[in-house]
Amino acid sequence: MANCIQCDVKLTEMFDALNFYKKPAKLCVNCIALWEENKIVLEGRCAKCLKKLEQGERECLDCAFLAAKFLLMNQLYCDYQYKGMVKQLIHQYKLLKDVALCEILAEQLRLPNRSYDYIIPIPSPMQRDMQRTFNPVTCVLEKMQVAYEVILHTKVRPKQSSLGKLHRARLANPFEISKNLNLEDKNILLVDDIYTTGLTVHHAIEKLSVRKIRKFDVFTFAR
Ligand SMILES: [Zn+2]
Ligand SMILES: [Zn+2]
Repeated sequence: MANCIQCDVKLTEMFDALNFYKKPAKLCVNCIALWEENKIVLEGRCAKCLKKLEQGERECLDCAFLAAKFLLMNQLYCDYQYKGMVKQLIHQYKLLKDVALCEILAEQLRLPNRSYDYIIPIPSPMQRDMQRTFNPVTCVLEKMQVAYEVILHTKVRPKQSSLGKLHRARLANPFEISKNLNLEDKNILLVDDIYTTGLTVHHAIEKLSVRKIRKFDVFTFAR
């Protein structure tokens, strides 16, 4: 019998008429409960970026800030809060570049159930480092057997501290396009590991010849 891919306890399978045809569970009930604990509850959050709104806050300041500068995303899809076990697991996954942890994420995460012309991963800053091959996002997409387009790359740039302030501001967008793809009137899904301020994905969309894109959604592992 198989073991839980997250904590390695033996999985006890119950063969009844209901779950007989389902694919076998890969996580034990305890681990599933840990994931459930960190599920995002939509109530009290911005409908677009899922930020927790302050008491009495009616308009999301993060979205307002982004909308002033960028084409604003249509919708963030994200099921889990970046805290507790989820935070620990993602942190460990990125740090250790661990394929087993990649499998756990692929098992738990669900992409939005819509059709997109292109699914585009956000490049990892880690790809500039020694192990250039590891991108925590594409690793999970591959495990999920999702087709994606690598269009964006992170610029190699000089150390921030050696640059003047103005120069730094010009380099504010960390991405460049590595492939020409006609994005006119296309529906795009950008995928990243964590959503915090939203600046990263909006910088990415700024580079993707912006305004001609019909709309874009964002999916992240956690926020
Ligand atoms: Zn488990
Ligand atoms: Zn918002």
